[in-house]
Amino acid sequence: MEKNEIVQLLITSDRNITKSLASLADTVRHNLVGDDIHVRGLLNISNYCRKNCLYCGLGNHNRKLKRYRMKPEEILQTIEAAAITGYKTVLLQGGEDMQYTTEIITSLVEEIHRRFDLDIALSLGERPDDDYRRWFDAGAAKYLLKHETSDPELYRRLHPDSDFETRIHILRFLKQTGYETGSGIMIGLPGQTVESIADDILLFRELDIDMIGCGPYIYNPDTPIPEYAETSIPADAIEDMVIKVTALNRIITRDTMIPATTATETKFSARGKLNTLHSGANVIMLDITPPPWKEHYRIYPRNKFNDGIRNYQDIIKDISEKTGRPVSPQYGRRRENNR
Ligand code: SAH
Repeated sequence: MEKNEIVQLLITSDRNITKSLASLADTVRHNLVGDDIHVRGLLNISNYCRKNCLYCGLGNHNRKLKRYRMKPEEILQTIEAAAITGYKTVLLQGGEDMQYTTEIITSLVEEIHRRFDLDIALSLGERPDDDYRRWFDAGAAKYLLKHETSDPELYRRLHPDSDFETRIHILRFLKQTGYETGSGIMIGLPGQTVESIADDILLFRELDIDMIGCGPYIYNPDTPIPEYAETSIPADAIEDMVIKVTALNRIITRDTMIPATTATETKFSARGKLNTLHSGANVIMLDITPPPWKEHYRIYPRNKFNDGIRNYQDIIKDISEKTGRPVSPQYGRRRENNR
């Protein structure tokens, strides 16, 4: 598909186009990667961050946020509980918290890898190349670093202390190192154009990204972005846009892992999330961050929280009741299940 065609599909407000794209993506998903849904346990290990991304509530600018950092022992206990009940991937995510040194994360990954039968995914932001290499050697299999927007000018405005070229360099480096590499964007950012979203989708393909997470931008009052910042995508078009981007990601990148994102659920409820599972998505992330920390990981306002780690059999039952699809017993790597 050419950029022009993608732009046309994204800008139309014709709901029938959304429906046909969703249904085509659902068929492509079924044919190429099957019906399995892959479940990841998401553990938010720290909300300290050295950066100031304008849209994000963890930014250093936010003095209102109560900061926390889980201790390695507590992280291990949480992961042990997740492994025992049946999780096959856990994602350790956090702000860019340099108090977790290269060594601390390396030994944490080594110990998780040695003790538990699960895939380790990391999302700890931008670090020196050598950190990524060491963590891979220690046993990490997946790394997530969203490029957020492929519009370099918008990228620069939203990220006062990062640049787009570094982001792309890191994504390429992660792939070379051997990681299953994840990227993604926010949809509806102030200043974002539909043309740039078409570029984002083509960039996922060009970089051969393995996991693609796209969700709506959610306004956070504790950030510098004003509530009614000007957007070129109308507010009432975002929900369909999320569905169309999910569908196009599936149709264009074929056999990738595509989550139904937490941001989609936060903004458009459980029904919105389910819609993306019927538009090409095949991954669900469940927050396993223990209390009292979970409510302080506020990249955007949230009011719905899990009650800690749920029994995996209940999760399987719940997912199959809601989607009619089975939960995969495997690690959920991209090319594990190809038909
Ligand atoms: N610091 C890590 C990961 C934590 S943030 C990193 O930089 O990769 C995880 C993701 O939350 C970001 O990639 C971004 O896409 C998303 N996010 C942050 N603020 C958001 C907002 N206001 N609305 C929607 N998504 C947001």
